[in-house]
Amino acid sequence: MAEERRLPNAALRTLFLAIEEVMGANGTRAVLKAGGLERFIDNYPPNNTALESTFADYGAAEQAVEDLYGSRGARAILMRIGRVTFQYTLREQPAILGLAGLAIKALPMGMRMKLVLERVTKAANEDVNQPAQLREEPDAFYFVVGECPCRWRPPHTSPACFVTVGVLQEAMHWATGKNFRIEEVACISNGAAACVYRIPKQPVE
Ligand SMILES: [Zn+2]
Repeated sequence: MAEERRLPNAALRTLFLAIEEVMGANGTRAVLKAGGLERFIDNYPPNNTALESTFADYGAAEQAVEDLYGSRGARAILMRIGRVTFQYTLREQPAILGLAGLAIKALPMGMRMKLVLERVTKAANEDVNQPAQLREEPDAFYFVVGECPCRWRPPHTSPACFVTVGVLQEAMHWATGKNFRIEEVACISNGAAACVYRIPKQPVE
């Protein structure tokens, strides 16, 4: 098992609230039980940025959704949870992303995407204790994450971080009003050194 890594309380709380919105109160209880997270039933972490939660607990909740629905069935659910996670973060912790009041409407689509991805990268590094980088190539952006809750999940045969895929999908939809086929192309749980997400510059038709 990897060494403990701390996460802000608000990040784990937001994940639980997103699970609740997607799966309901009973579904959430089932997830918390399956993940060995019973201590959080009706007792979510507080809405603050103290580093008192852990990557392991975040990963255990994601893994529990996968265990309950199977790896194929869980994908769409985890992505929905990710989309809601972004919406909640925008609403509850707008300062984290620094997106409130950002005047991006007049910018071209690629610039909007880049600006929002830069904010997400900065928030990961400075607020979520998650080393991250953004790389740009002519046809796509790459969001590269060096520490991920999936390090504390069992090994996977293919990338597992569908919550983050959903977060990025919703962030890009917020930025542009369009949908993008975002893919995790390398994953720590799959033996890679980092989780790498490809965000194509061209939206889905
Ligand atoms: Zn991953």
